[in-house]
Amino acid sequence: MIIGGGVMGAGLLYHLALEGWHDAVLVEKGELTSGSTWHAAGQCPHFNSSLNMTRVHVYGTELYPKLEALTGQAVSWHGCGGIRLACTDEEVNWFKQVYGVSRLAGYEAHIIGPAEIRERHPFLEIGNVKAGFLTVSDGHVAPADITMAMAAGARNLGAEVVRRTRVLDVNLLPSGEWRVITEKGDIVCQHVVNAAGSYCDVVGAWTGHKVPIANMLHHYVITEPVKELIDRKEELPVIRDPWSHAYLREETNGILIGPYETATAHVCWDGRPPRWDFESELIAPELDRLAPFLERAGERFPLFGRAGLKNVVSGAITHTPDGTYLSGPAPGPRNYWMHCGASVGICQGGGAGKYLAQWMVHGQAEINMREFDPRRFGDWATADYTAAVSVADYQHMYYCYKPGEQHEVGRELRTSSLHGRLKKAGAQFAQIFGWERARWYDPSGTGEAYSFKRSNWWDKVREECLAVRDRVGLMDLSTFAKFEITGPDALAFLERICANRIPARDGRLILGHLLNESGVIESELTVTRLAPDRFYALSAAAAQLYDMDQLRWRIAPGERVAVSDVTDAYGVLVLAGPRARDVLSSCTAADLGNAGFPWLSAREITVAGIEGVRALRVNYVGELGWELHVPMDRMPVVFDALVAAGQPHGLRLFGTYAMNSLRMEKAYRGWGAELTNEIGLVAADMERFAAFDKDFTGRAATLREKQQGPKIRLVYLAVDAIDNDSYGNEPIYHASAGDRPIGVTTGGAFGHKVGQSLAFGYVETSLARPGERFEVLLMGNRVNARVLAEPAWDPENRRIRANAGR
Ligand SMILES: Cc1cc2nc3c(=O)[nH]c(=O)nc-3n(C[C@H](O)[C@H](O)[C@H](O)COP(=O)(O)OP(=O)(O)OC[C@H]3O[C@@H](n4cnc5c(N)ncnc54)[C@H](O)[C@@H]3O)c2cc1C
Repeated sequence: MIIGGGVMGAGLLYHLALEGWHDAVLVEKGELTSGSTWHAAGQCPHFNSSLNMTRVHVYGTELYPKLEALTGQAVSWHGCGGIRLACTDEEVNWFKQVYGVSRLAGYEAHIIGPAEIRERHPFLEIGNVKAGFLTVSDGHVAPADITMAMAAGARNLGAEVVRRTRVLDVNLLPSGEWRVITEKGDIVCQHVVNAAGSYCDVVGAWTGHKVPIANMLHHYVITEPVKELIDRKEELPVIRDPWSHAYLREETNGILIGPYETATAHVCWDGRPPRWDFESELIAPELDRLAPFLERAGERFPLFGRAGLKNVVSGAITHTPDGTYLSGPAPGPRNYWMHCGASVGICQGGGAGKYLAQWMVHGQAEINMREFDPRRFGDWATADYTAAVSVADYQHMYYCYKPGEQHEVGRELRTSSLHGRLKKAGAQFAQIFGWERARWYDPSGTGEAYSFKRSNWWDKVREECLAVRDRVGLMDLSTFAKFEITGPDALAFLERICANRIPARDGRLILGHLLNESGVIESELTVTRLAPDRFYALSAAAAQLYDMDQLRWRIAPGERVAVSDVTDAYGVLVLAGPRARDVLSSCTAADLGNAGFPWLSAREITVAGIEGVRALRVNYVGELGWELHVPMDRMPVVFDALVAAGQPHGLRLFGTYAMNSLRMEKAYRGWGAELTNEIGLVAADMERFAAFDKDFTGRAATLREKQQGPKIRLVYLAVDAIDNDSYGNEPIYHASAGDRPIGVTTGGAFGHKVGQSLAFGYVETSLARPGERFEVLLMGNRVNARVLAEPAWDPENRRIRANAGR
């Protein structure tokens, strides 16, 4: 049962029906489209840095022109193409990165110069334009047409649409079903979907879900018809202009301009939800605020300046703090789904519906859904944070984000107890799941010069990496998600849900993957056995809510297991490098020798007088070292002691940029990058983490994949990078396939110790052979890459085991 009949709800209903759920019902309080959808400008662009989001867009622009034939409902699709303008060198670099995404997503794009822009759009003033990103299959559509068509298509397949019926409440029943209370009676359903647009936070609150959206006020204006456009046969492409912060297009021979204001942007209705009877209404326009942007748009498109305004449309757009809609399970009890928060919902409604329908019906989608998952926001995403960051997101709609660049507002929500100390040491923080986490240390205080190319962090990160490899490094990694899994059935439970064998002895740890029945990787956990009925599990910071669900949802009825989230209770220090043992031993009396404290073991030790420090002999950088899990409030004591003890050994603080470089040298995979819900352990070349001699969820599928061979397989590449390393989602080419990408990178870094740029990628299995040569499209340069047979650094794990040297 779907609450809300906008483009998102209708898109989902249609695709659920296509997937075979003919008993789905959509309930809408007014008429279909009467929320935000009816008055949208209807543009459907392709340009996007994210491969998964691009796939959503591509699906929509392929579907909409066909919808009339598919559903019998008229749809007016204008396939006029689009050009995004670049006025700076970094914007041109961005185009090069997105061009790579276009190759993978399969839509036609070209980076064109001013002459061709002029040819395609003779009415623009482009003196300050360096290049254009031409997307041939962009278009615009009447939002009501596609919504009605998808609703009709769903009805044709047996789904139901109930109009003029407000949902009043949602309750969870003891059976695990949901009772949806409407003005006209109750509906008990297995699955409930919140697609309530501007009301989604109110609807979510009924079941205790905090939905981080803000309703931003957005306008566009339309002029009277203009002679030059009446005389023109072909429709002009839609222009997206970072200089005027606006989209500019033709609309029934007039000009439509939609600016995204910067300083004056604000939320609607003073941050309150709309009235329940708000239906197909406009919000009073605020043209004065738009004036500076409209003036610029007039300079860019002088015909606009000469034409009379005919229409002003102003309404609410839902924005999330990261600008991406929420689509997937809500945290907590199963089968409550979010499908809301879209700010480009007309374009995305078709694809968003398709992929959520796959997830709901089949348990997984064919694309990586992580960036849409509502559980990427926790309670830290408060209403104030959401409003502040959504405003910033709106203001930056046309801003060129360089890799790593984040909003400055809404920061310092979650900090470790070392935050002040790290800041003083020059930490350059990034926000991850609300936490501030150091990327690198800049004692000069200049801060990061964000760029698509290697930038001012390069030398410092190199120093940090070399310190870890040659001496010793210290990192605050308190951001780990941390869980305790306890109870008489905890061992059997973990044995069943993890592909790897759970340690038979207390004080040992393993890397465990949670697969689904199809064998794809849903989670990756480091599991430490504290006692036969007590385990400590660690996972990625961003997976805190997600993994909680993964763990709790897998508990079988009657199984005596409890899962608790202890993330905030412990801070984590990573001490790693050949001198790590020397440093730690001067702060503890514990036996740190290889016999007493071997690799992949854990002990509770006392460090700097602090008792109960969980020390795990493991790390993600590939050196002798310990992760020290310290009660959060005691972290400063341990940190100060280690820093002091480390001084004679040349200890250096390091951040996540260095960690990424070091893990690439060791060929360690990362959850969310190499390990995703599209991939199984065999494809990821991680079979050694599957204990086939026991039963575990996904075993049969993994064995099948092993026997039949995966379609794609992970390769570890040495890349002849020039001045930027792989960010992931770059196409990989092979001589046998010419210009057809045969693979995609998942990420990379320069390995400073080995002096080599490195990347991971998935390629067609037949080509995944050591020594095989490829080309990778890195920011416009097709550079050579070669498959490595083993990790570039310490392939035999001598250094982690500390069997060699010290
Ligand atoms: C001026 C403007 C221009 C835009 N231009 C574009 C564009 O060019 N391209 C683009 O892609 N996007 C554009 N958008 C954004 C787009 O309109 C939205 O992203 C999209 O409409 C969101 O769809 P939705 O289904 O999530 O929300 P909505 O369309 O608001 O639908 C939600 C529905 O839920 C119903 N509902 C809520 N609560 C209940 C309840 N309790 N019971 C029953 N029903 C309920 C509401 O009545 C509503 O109909 C624009 C938006 C605006 C305002």
